[in-house]
Amino acid sequence: ANTETALTLEEQEYLAQREPIRVCVDPNWMPFEGFDEQNQYMGMASDYFTLFERFLHIPFEIVKTPSWPEALRSAKQRHCDLVSLVMETRETASYLNFTKPFMNYPYVVATRQEELFVESLDQILEERIAMVEDYALFERFKKEYPDTEWVPVKNIEDGLLKVQSSDVYGFIDSVPSIGYTIRELGLTDIRITGKLDIDRPLRTGVRNDDPMLFSVMQKAVEHLDQDDHQDIRRRWAPAEIEREEDYTLALAVLAVSILAMSFLVYRQFTLKRYNDRIRQAYQEKDEIYKALVEKNRLLEQISTTDPLTQVYNRLKMNTMLHTEIQRVKRYGGMFSVLMLDLDHFKKVNDTHGHPVGDQVLLQFVDRVRECLRSTDALGRWGGEEFIVLCPETNLRSALLVADNLRRQIETAAFETIGHQTVSVGVTAYQPGDTQESIVSRADQALYFAKESGRNRVASEPKLI
Ligand code: GH3
Ligand code: MG
Ligand code: MG
Repeated sequence: ANTETALTLEEQEYLAQREPIRVCVDPNWMPFEGFDEQNQYMGMASDYFTLFERFLHIPFEIVKTPSWPEALRSAKQRHCDLVSLVMETRETASYLNFTKPFMNYPYVVATRQEELFVESLDQILEERIAMVEDYALFERFKKEYPDTEWVPVKNIEDGLLKVQSSDVYGFIDSVPSIGYTIRELGLTDIRITGKLDIDRPLRTGVRNDDPMLFSVMQKAVEHLDQDDHQDIRRRWAPAEIEREEDYTLALAVLAVSILAMSFLVYRQFTLKRYNDRIRQAYQEKDEIYKALVEKNRLLEQISTTDPLTQVYNRLKMNTMLHTEIQRVKRYGGMFSVLMLDLDHFKKVNDTHGHPVGDQVLLQFVDRVRECLRSTDALGRWGGEEFIVLCPETNLRSALLVADNLRRQIETAAFETIGHQTVSVGVTAYQPGDTQESIVSRADQALYFAKESGRNRVASEPKLI
């Protein structure tokens, strides 16, 4: 490397004759460069320039300007020959040539301690991010990431304090700058959470009207070796070490996040399982409920229906009689009861067998139904005896209903047996009636009907 970087005679002569080389620097960019209390130039660039001085055997003259923009303006106006550390931009390229880069610290994101690891800018697209306003990159980011709310800050300190106060989500700068300022200000609650994949090569800018100066500066840079870089980095940017710490911290954060996430996923999973169970339980409950309702319906039907003829049973008819008596007592009105008994039904069984008798009962019920109003209730009182409850029906109307019934049965054709007759006893509600008294009168009327020859209708009190 030495032969390649060795200065030519011409270059040596040039340097010997040349006026002091003036270097514009950023007065406020520690640890890259800055000034101590005695106004001595210091920082990483200062160390590099000491190495350059040693290599070139000349002293540099450091020009202190009030600010970085002032430093650039001075360079542009040729008040200085070099700009110590600069990024190549279209603006700076208009008056500077650039050596090879000799420092390249990536941009990183500093956030509050509790924030998660930021892997790329895309991840923090919609956050408020601060950056030093006069950085060339600031304008580029603003264009490239319009969804991000870019907050310009005066300096690193300002940016980090905004992060600390939650004014912004993150602050973007280099590891050495952020590390240095964090240490200076003792901002223990801020850490570097992400590295951006953006190169930030720093070079020395050489006035572009002095090719000889450029050539010697380029050689000075090329002469630097790994040890030089490492020494300087170690001295000013223990951020390397800090970065490792940061990574372990970030890893810890990551591990915790993964744990937290697995817990969430697990909880989500168990929640879903519980939900499924609950839903299933509800479904089962619903099914059980439906089954219960259905069973109840069935039970009620069984408990109120005669199994053979499917008309109301005696129990149900008693309930209806009771209800009807209550209703008439309370609201007035009236009702009648018909007691029906098949004539000589024993003979049917004896002649054709019990099953035929059952068939006759079923056919009888069908015929009777056809003669009744929907409000009338038909029930089996027992054996071949049936009862009909006719609401809003007086004795006279009930007798008409009964005789109509009797005639329908008399004229109907029954399977196997051909003919069948019925006798009917009729009665109407009387004040003071109970179920027993009214049924008893209907029975009595039926007895009269049987007595007077069967296939008859009789009433109690007697009307016909
Ligand atoms: P009456 O005209 O006097 O009523 O004569 P009857 O033969 O109908 O009267 P009785 O009370 O002597 O006989 C009733 C018969 O009805 C006795 C029984 O065999 C029959 N019976 C009662 N319940 C059923 C039934 O569910 N199925 C069948 N097949 N027969 C029944
Ligand atoms: Mg009978
Ligand atoms: Mg009978």
